[in-house]
Amino acid sequence: MEEIIQEEIKPKVLIVDDERGLRTGTKRILQSEGYNVDTAENGTEGIELGTKNDYDLCIIDLKMPDIDGIEVLKTIKKARPNTICYIATAFATFDTAIEATKLGAQSYIPKPFTTDELLKHLETGYEKRLLILESERLRKEREERLLEIAYEKSRLNTIVNSIFDGVMVVNKTGELVLFNPASLKYFDLNEIIIGEKILGILPKEVSDLINKILNTEKYENKSYSTQLELKQNRELCVEVSCSPVPHPDGSLAGVVTVINNITEMKKLEYVKSQFVSMVAHELKAPMAAVMGFMNLILDDSMGIKPDKQKEYISRSTKRLQGLIEMVNDLLDISRMEIKKKEREIKELNIPEILKSNVDFLELELKKKGITVTTNLELDLPPIKADNNEINRLYTNILSNALKYNKEKGTIDISAYKSGNYVVTKIADTGIGMKPEDREKLFQEFFRVKNDQTRNIPGTGLGLSIVKRIVESYSGKIEVDSEYGKGTTFIIKFPYKV
Ligand code: ADP
Repeated sequence: MEEIIQEEIKPKVLIVDDERGLRTGTKRILQSEGYNVDTAENGTEGIELGTKNDYDLCIIDLKMPDIDGIEVLKTIKKARPNTICYIATAFATFDTAIEATKLGAQSYIPKPFTTDELLKHLETGYEKRLLILESERLRKEREERLLEIAYEKSRLNTIVNSIFDGVMVVNKTGELVLFNPASLKYFDLNEIIIGEKILGILPKEVSDLINKILNTEKYENKSYSTQLELKQNRELCVEVSCSPVPHPDGSLAGVVTVINNITEMKKLEYVKSQFVSMVAHELKAPMAAVMGFMNLILDDSMGIKPDKQKEYISRSTKRLQGLIEMVNDLLDISRMEIKKKEREIKELNIPEILKSNVDFLELELKKKGITVTTNLELDLPPIKADNNEINRLYTNILSNALKYNKEKGTIDISAYKSGNYVVTKIADTGIGMKPEDREKLFQEFFRVKNDQTRNIPGTGLGLSIVKRIVESYSGKIEVDSEYGKGTTFIIKFPYKV
């Protein structure tokens, strides 16, 4: 069987007395009673030992030749307030006894004392000392725990305060328990304090959600959310979610509300829906035109002659061709948006691409009597890009320079190096455009509408695709145009040496 050896803790006593006999006699008695005893033969030594060591008990003689017992008591008590001290004297007056207890002595022991009297005093004193030590330990423990809690609380506060989303917690009666600065910002609240009833000052939609949870009898793990436009025109949109907070006993403790900024998402949704309605609108016009032609042909009562029918069919085909181009452009935009377009990145020589594009347009250039001049710098560094995309870009720009040019106009093409960019300039002597039109040039479906452009076919998507391609290679595109005189597109692609 294992024996539990409990080390006996001996009370530590200091005896301060100039009378040698009493000192040694008391020491012997106490030692035989299981005390651990030190002695001091005068006040100086008593102070030294009594302040240096943490004695449980201390018996101090009142009258000593060097330092008075009261002084010794004061000094020891100051350094060791938990040491139980006794003043022992044969000459005690009522006043000194009172003074000694005022200064912290446990009591006063009249000399001479019997062993029993002494032991009784010391036993009571030691019990008191143990109680003091225990309460001291408990106090320390509590302080540490409080510190820990305070630290945890401040850590939690720091975390909650630094959350970008707003967080707000109310208790069962709708009083504010916790909030972070973000929640104040969203709800435009300046001064709210913990404990405040806040349901009345929150947006109605939010307090309705909170009430919905607070009004349920029991705790139910069910959250509610709503989207709010806190500032008009999608300036500030939030999603507010309210969830019940359970109490450890399973009942409902309160409601936590999280406010999430969804402004960017809402703006994007809006742009997307605008785009969809724009697409629908653009598709509708040519479809309606084709439908009109078909109905005319089908309507026998109209008696449309065969050559007229043929004309309608050919006009329909043109509109359908335009539709196919538009759909292809839209598909390209969507592939670029979701970055699904497969790219084959390789080194491309821009002058070569420009030349092959001009060759491709040769017939139409001739038809319109347009002269093309080129000024392409030799040894131009290649750019790294997808061949199809770069070709698509220059085809768009060059065919515009042709489409929107005047009869017998010119197109000047130059390519050169500038800083870290390969720059291409395509200048035409065409119809040009007004500054207000130039600003909208890269928007989807934008087309300048005037007498000169009326009969030029197009989707209004070409330049928006060009811009997307240029930007996807960290390039830049600029336009210089003078109404009635001509337009210059400047495209810059960064290259790596
Ligand atoms: P599309 O040519 O199919 O209409 P784009 O996106 O290529 O579409 O061009 C948008 C509009 O910008 C054109 O409709 C035209 O009004 C104007 N534009 C483009 N390039 C030129 C140019 N070189 N000169 C004058 N106007 C131009």
